[in-house]
Amino acid sequence: MSDSPLVVAIDGPAASGKSSTAHWVAERLGYRHVDSGALYRALTLLATREAGPSDGWTGERLAALADRVRLDAVPGGFEPTIDGAPAGDGIRGAEVTRCVSLVAQMPAVRGWVNARVREAAEGRSVVVDGRDIGTVVFPEAPLKIFLVADPWERARRRLVQRLGRRPADAEIAEETERLVQRDAKDATQTVQAKDAILLDTTYLTQAEQVDRIVALTRALERGVSPEADPA
Ligand code: C5P
Repeated sequence: MSDSPLVVAIDGPAASGKSSTAHWVAERLGYRHVDSGALYRALTLLATREAGPSDGWTGERLAALADRVRLDAVPGGFEPTIDGAPAGDGIRGAEVTRCVSLVAQMPAVRGWVNARVREAAEGRSVVVDGRDIGTVVFPEAPLKIFLVADPWERARRRLVQRLGRRPADAEIAEETERLVQRDAKDATQTVQAKDAILLDTTYLTQAEQVDRIVALTRALERGVSPEADPA
């Protein structure tokens, strides 16, 4: 492993497999995984509990709640906590998913998340996933991956994960619609860095995507710089 800590940035749209890919890449490399979306989600969960209807949420109100949300170190990575207790699976619920893009648009919230993520990465090698990791949070990251996949395939994978069975076409169509809407809400912050490697995972298995990123990182550890896709 190279002597100085490395940052691997993985960005991409909703349900493109960023978090699970980042998790396995980190595990294979012995790096820590930092899921920036989980922090946006934990703050949103707290807001749904305590900040009243979402149309009244302001950056100021959310920033005040943010004091109670932390990113705590756990084996292999970090987990968001609320008032010191793990935020748990509630951060993946439908209500949080519906409101999180609104929260993520607030500049005060983005600044808070970015500071927490940079703190988590301090002095250690990390795989960080999100929307703007390669452009805003770690613009100097030596390896940036932008994951994309066909919306239908993203929706299908998400449903298999959630339902544990093969989804019907009508269910996939409905989920695709929800994903496309969230993509539209997140469009301004989901940016592919100029020096990112674009990885279309529509026809890749998860093991294949993980292998590719691990291979690129190992090359980097040996001092071989990854080639960005020509713009
Ligand atoms: O990655 P995940 O889908 O869990 O992220 C939840 C939400 O957090 C996204 O829909 C987006 O609004 C926001 N997000 C963001 N910037 C990041 C990570 C997540 O705006 N770096």
